Amino acid sequence: MEKVLITGAAGFLGSHLCDRFVQEGYHVIGMDNLLTGSLDNIAHLFPLKNFEYYHHDVTKFVHVPGQLRYILHFASPASPIDYLKMPIQTMKVGSIGTMNLLGLAKEKKARILVASTSEIYGDPDVHPQSEEYWGYVNPIGPRGVYDEAKRFMEAITMAYRNFHGVDTRIARIFNTYGPRMRLDDGRALPAFMSQALRGEDLTVFGDGSQTRSFCYVDDLIEGIYRLLMSDYYLPMNLGNPHEITIKQFAEEIIALTGAKQKIVYKPLPQDDPKQRRPNIEKAKQILGWEPRISRAEGLKMTYEYFKNKIHPL
Ligand code: UDP
Repeated sequence: MEKVLITGAAGFLGSHLCDRFVQEGYHVIGMDNLLTGSLDNIAHLFPLKNFEYYHHDVTKFVHVPGQLRYILHFASPASPIDYLKMPIQTMKVGSIGTMNLLGLAKEKKARILVASTSEIYGDPDVHPQSEEYWGYVNPIGPRGVYDEAKRFMEAITMAYRNFHGVDTRIARIFNTYGPRMRLDDGRALPAFMSQALRGEDLTVFGDGSQTRSFCYVDDLIEGIYRLLMSDYYLPMNLGNPHEITIKQFAEEIIALTGAKQKIVYKPLPQDDPKQRRPNIEKAKQILGWEPRISRAEGLKMTYEYFKNKIHPL
């Protein structure tokens, strides 16, 4: 059985990746230090013979015995409030952590896919964002710790490829949502759903005219899987190109939850991107991939999860 190492395994995307690779018949090693992840997300995998959990911080030397076929590096705080609370850890996991995993990939002759992000485009002045755009990032702003760590991640990944011949893949992941997002991670969807379910008003930052494009997690996991299995090694955007304002998004969640809550407006955080939408032509052409799940369907499935977390049956 081929082995796959998934870092950030107890997190939102990491746990869904563990599910997918277990289903595909791999032996999965899920690694996490539980800084922002939760074992609840992978507890169902513990009884399986082809799943192992390693409690480890990837900014420390990473050791895995035996052979490894693939490494997926998904460990990192990933929401703006998390990386504001943990700026140093965010920078370390994107830099030192990535270096450790690239070193492991080199040693094991494993293919490695790193989780980059639409944040590398910063507050973009080109719209929609295609892979050729270099971004508009404030390195010393509050989001700089995440954005620059991920930019470093891309640079060092290409350096290991070019200098050591490591087999690499880089996914630029846009806003993704679905079950297992942390209720209190501060991102728009968990914030709005938790607020609606608790009978609180929904906090929209700024005037809500900023846009995002939300991808349902199952679609994203399929895109990651196809990118890993493909020969394409330059950065690739993965996300849903259906763009919406944050105000509309809050209104959709109010309509879905049947809540009587209203929207209250809070100050817009510094450097909050005004617009974001992926150009996914590369993923369409090279991977034959595009999102299939509509926001209406995706939000319904996510609501079921959040409802049960906040008001367990
Ligand atoms: N946002 C909001 N209210 C919240 C949380 C987020 O209006 O309670 C806004 C935030 O300012 C941003 C958008 O929603 O414009 C998406 O934020 P999120 O933190 O989900 O992710 P980002 O795309 O900014 O990394």
